Amino acid sequence: MSNFKMDTKCVQAGYTPGNGEPRQIPIIQSTTFKYNTSEDMGKLFDLEASGYFYTRLQNPTNDHVAAKIADMEGGTAAMLTSSGQAANFFALFNICECGDHIVSSASIYGGTFNLIAVTMKKMGIDVTFVAPTCTEEELNAAFTDKTKAVFGETIANPALTVLDIEKFAKAAHAHGVPLIVDNTFPTPVNCRPIEWGADIVTHSTTKYMDGHGAAVGGAIVDSGKFDWMAHAEKFPGLTTPDESYHGIVYAEKFGKEGAFITKCTAQLMRDFGCIQSPQHAFILNLGLESLHVRMPKHVENGQAVAEFLEKHPKVKKVNYSGLPSDPYYEVAKKYLPNGGCGVVSFELEGGRKAAETFMSRLKLAAIETHVADARTCCLNPATSTHRQMTDEQLEAAGIPAGLVRMSCGLESKEDLIADLEQALQ
Ligand SMILES: *Cc1c(COP(=O)(O)O)cnc(C)c1O
Repeated sequence: MSNFKMDTKCVQAGYTPGNGEPRQIPIIQSTTFKYNTSEDMGKLFDLEASGYFYTRLQNPTNDHVAAKIADMEGGTAAMLTSSGQAANFFALFNICECGDHIVSSASIYGGTFNLIAVTMKKMGIDVTFVAPTCTEEELNAAFTDKTKAVFGETIANPALTVLDIEKFAKAAHAHGVPLIVDNTFPTPVNCRPIEWGADIVTHSTTKYMDGHGAAVGGAIVDSGKFDWMAHAEKFPGLTTPDESYHGIVYAEKFGKEGAFITKCTAQLMRDFGCIQSPQHAFILNLGLESLHVRMPKHVENGQAVAEFLEKHPKVKKVNYSGLPSDPYYEVAKKYLPNGGCGVVSFELEGGRKAAETFMSRLKLAAIETHVADARTCCLNPATSTHRQMTDEQLEAAGIPAGLVRMSCGLESKEDLIADLEQALQ
């Protein structure tokens, strides 16, 4: 499908039924698959033949949906995971081990920050965080001879900073390591990081891809561009024999196009088991079929709400890269020419108390720990996700007590603005 436009890929990529076969992707609700001889199955276990034997490793429903996402991102291979957290963990752990080091943008999702800064640290994997706005010199200075990956988010949740993908890719490649980009917020409809130099793209499909708040999930896409063999000493897991698979060398047997995802499936999914259920993959695909129709509407609503808020006297500051006053406006024009997403954050005059009162008056926007689905929702980090922090600590972290994160859904923008207007009153 790679020559088709995004709209066509969203609807049809990943699954082409044969004569008399189901039009919709079938949900293969089976843990296991039947074979006539042990020899047939043995070939699958040895990665000598491709096919299915156990859903923890692979399932046809998941593979169709993963193939669609790979096509949408312009990658060569992809896999689904049980959540966005699992996707980012697998993407990093597939090439990092004890003693290794990661360079990451500091402006990333809180869950991913904990994963890298706390949990992976316990596994002996070190990290250096850099500001997304850092200079090339500062970025290059963050690398060590143990660095194995660079990580960032196209649009960070919840800070809404925009990653200069080319700057990060250039530094990663100069040090012989891949750039991993979490593309959850813009989705491939609004940005395709591989075209700007990213090597691996990850997703929390829980957000816009599903888009209805129905199914938690994640995905990893390989661009197929990173030459593991050219940096063989850095990536022994891909370039030396895997004893748990009779000495297969992934980068030799599956090439640049398939090595990363095959190793990630064969080792990490086998051992950690964070598989997406075929039911969830089916629900995710229903979301993907309308993603290209929904994203422009999320952007339209986000832009209208941001413009309204910016003019309102009770609002101190608005963060939205579609506003010319936003520090990321120029970067966004380059990477997100059709807009970024529907998530806006803003700071109210009057801090925590004002934010609480304001949110309790909203009628359409529900208070939720979620973003990026059809229904508008909002959250005040100071009284929810970050409530253990003092006002001073919040300020230092760039999350003032009066900050509200608002995820604009697919309702009428006039209704959303009227709701904000009466709540601000
Ligand atoms: C939500 C989110 C995650 C984590 O995804 P889950 O599906 O909740 O595990 C990772 N990255 C970003 C940018 C997110 O918004």
